[in-house]
Amino acid sequence: MSGAPDSRPTWADVDVAAFRRNVATITALLPEGARLVAVLKADGYGHGALPLAHACKNRVAMIAVALLEEALVLRRGGIDTPLLVLGPLTAPQVRIAIEERITMGIVGPEELALVRDADAGIHLKLDSGMGRMGVMESELPAVIEMLRGAPRLRVEGIYTHFANADEPGDEYTATQIANYDRMLAALRNAGIDAPMHHLANSGATLRRLVRPGELARVGIALYGPGQSAPTEPVLRWRTAIMRLKELPAGHPVGYGTTWRAARPSRIATLPVGYADGFRRAHSNNGDVLIHGRRAPIVGRVSMDLTTIDVTDIAEAAYGDEVVLLGTQGEGRITAEELATRTGTISYEILTGIGARVPRRHHDS
Ligand SMILES: *Cc1c(COP(=O)(O)O)cnc(C)c1O
Repeated sequence: MSGAPDSRPTWADVDVAAFRRNVATITALLPEGARLVAVLKADGYGHGALPLAHACKNRVAMIAVALLEEALVLRRGGIDTPLLVLGPLTAPQVRIAIEERITMGIVGPEELALVRDADAGIHLKLDSGMGRMGVMESELPAVIEMLRGAPRLRVEGIYTHFANADEPGDEYTATQIANYDRMLAALRNAGIDAPMHHLANSGATLRRLVRPGELARVGIALYGPGQSAPTEPVLRWRTAIMRLKELPAGHPVGYGTTWRAARPSRIATLPVGYADGFRRAHSNNGDVLIHGRRAPIVGRVSMDLTTIDVTDIAEAAYGDEVVLLGTQGEGRITAEELATRTGTISYEILTGIGARVPRRHHDS
């Protein structure tokens, strides 16, 4: 079953070699002189950030995370690749980031005021149309004044973030690029520039919108979420049949008795539930893989348990491996499939895999 006799039979295998191949696949899409920033926020989109960060060594320009805490875990774990915290950061966190030589994404004038007297490296975020973080065009004159009064501050990067780059038929990204270019020109006119510039996320990178010499901040595509990206799935989420029973026709299954056997049925119980991030929206809605074939989820997904109908899979037996996400034989379930089933996005599926699901990293 799990390969670790003392742990629960529900776990996620993380294929570090596949991640490294994905880094190469994405890097190959970049134009002349462009480099990758691997986005490993939210514990590497639920995969466990530290082993993936080690796999990035000498392959990426920087590693980006959202939180200072996430950057510190990587630093303490021996990562010497430059780290960018996307933020936002509080005043005490800014002091720690400076001490630890972690590059800060500075998301507005308030945060710039916290670092202006520091000897520190920053990437300045511009709001090109997301309306969330970043300096607005109307705020640029004030920001330019502040930067002029901050001679020890090093602006090492200037960047922005796209709202719609992964939407089919999107035209807004072109508007955002034009807005960014205009704001960058205004900074340059004021004598402010940076060695690094970055706009693209996964969606824009896959659409080849990265320009020569720029960086690309790529997250989801590095993890192989499904058909939207040309990369391999990195994570495989497995469990096992821990109870297998015959139910007579008419017998209900689970809370709310939402499913009843229409025929004599073999119902298997899996030790995984919504507390593990296997979403309750999968109740009577979705499949798992067993012996390489699909078995439907029946009844409600509960906190710790999920039930499946294996009546049509005669070989199914107590202890058999079940794949919730990933491949098994000819079968394949992607994060995008789980997301479509449950009305969300692959990001939420991957980052939602719970802390009590052990991650086992393999590097073949
Ligand atoms: C999360 C994030 C990314 C990565 O986005 P993907 O769609 O996962 O590639 C890039 N830039 C910023 C600022 C982010 O917050």
